[in-house]
Amino acid sequence: MSNAVKNSKTVKVGDGIVTVKGWVQDTRNLGGISFIVLRDRFGTIQLTLPKKKIDPELFGEITTLPRESVISVTGEVKESNQTELGLEIIPSGFVLESKADSPLPMGVIDKVNVEMDTRLNNRFIDLRKPEIRAIFELKSLMVKLLNEVMTENQFSQVFTPKMSASGAEGGASLFSVDYFGKEAYLAQSPQLYKQMLMSTGLDRIFEIAPAFRAENSNTNRHVTEFISFDGEMSWIESMDDVMAMIEEIVDYVIRGLKERGAEYLKVLDKEIVVPSRPYPRLTYAECLKMVNDGGLPLKDGDDLGTEGEKIVGDVMAERGYEMYFIAEYPEEAKPFYIMEKDGTSYSYSFDLDYKGQEISSGGQREHRYDLLVKRMEKLGLNPEDFGFYLDAFRYGMPPHGGWGIGIERLLVKMLDLPNIREAILFPRDPSRLSP
Ligand code: ATP
Ligand code: MG
Repeated sequence: MSNAVKNSKTVKVGDGIVTVKGWVQDTRNLGGISFIVLRDRFGTIQLTLPKKKIDPELFGEITTLPRESVISVTGEVKESNQTELGLEIIPSGFVLESKADSPLPMGVIDKVNVEMDTRLNNRFIDLRKPEIRAIFELKSLMVKLLNEVMTENQFSQVFTPKMSASGAEGGASLFSVDYFGKEAYLAQSPQLYKQMLMSTGLDRIFEIAPAFRAENSNTNRHVTEFISFDGEMSWIESMDDVMAMIEEIVDYVIRGLKERGAEYLKVLDKEIVVPSRPYPRLTYAECLKMVNDGGLPLKDGDDLGTEGEKIVGDVMAERGYEMYFIAEYPEEAKPFYIMEKDGTSYSYSFDLDYKGQEISSGGQREHRYDLLVKRMEKLGLNPEDFGFYLDAFRYGMPPHGGWGIGIERLLVKMLDLPNIREAILFPRDPSRLSP
């Protein structure tokens, strides 16, 4: 008869003989009795080994296993008031599936502060810590929630190419790859493709996919590969429609994580505060004033920058808002595909900022062919380089707008994590290309 295979979440007093599998997290030998903490995906279970009652060979082997070895243990479940689960297992047999080398490259339970570099170099061990794994359980849930809310709002999920003969916005931040002897680029964003799709009748689309940026900057919020959640929608009256959509999506995701991610938030010892709605819609001009009043002398047209964004974040926090839009940036500072605000030097663009940091950019796009070409020329781009994109504007293009959100930025801000790398399994940055 085979024993029921259980884990630390499903095992119960009264189960009789069970089999559990996991990593030997810790062993304590107290002479007459030994304890092993066995860890699996859901938590830990105590194995209790009273020396007198256990086969000496089994006892000798199991209690001398190096930490982090993987075993499968069969034994009887006994009630215990000494353990968190209220039970312990008395082993009667075990299989060593994989013996761990020692010493370990870094500890799993040692309470020493390990440098981020060491952690990332040994990410497979780092991820054995429940509070690290919880971040990725939440990221997984976040993507599920995004899929739910997008589907509810009639958006179709699409997949656009990540290798291309031209980049979205041209220029500096493109990675080039050798494509059978020709130069190709990794996608910075799906911008051109999602706009082209607006001319097809697929009038609400979204994509969740990697975006690559050859930005040689070592900050806590930039990496060279991140997951971009992009949306594009047709038949908008103005960019207000796009902002309203994002607000609904982001609110759904944050609420969903708070409710359905509660068990992981507990592991992380974090509480999510759902940002107040409606998210205020500030203008760039208003923010410039806040920044100037805050002592940072920026001029009209300047980028708010990290420092400026932070000042706005502080002012908004005082007003009780963690999430807010900053709209109508100077048109010169925005990419060619953004629609200009007629008769002004501003544009129908916006950022969504969360606790003083940009998490999304979006806007209404210029859908009128002639004006789009004019805008490209004004920004020093050659329309001939964008032939395949522009063609989609020549034969009927609805008014449309959209956004791109870096999902790691959203997650990191929500959880108040100190670095975007905490939310990426194997981060890529200028000095990190492996593991
Ligand atoms: P920033 O000014 O903060 O570098 P950006 O304005 O260059 O960002 P966009 O081109 O507007 O970025 O990209 C849309 C979103 O993608 C950003 O709001 C951000 O959430 C995310 N994002 C952009 N670049 C990166 C990066 N290097 N690493 C992680 N996320 C990024
Ligand atoms: Mg931006």
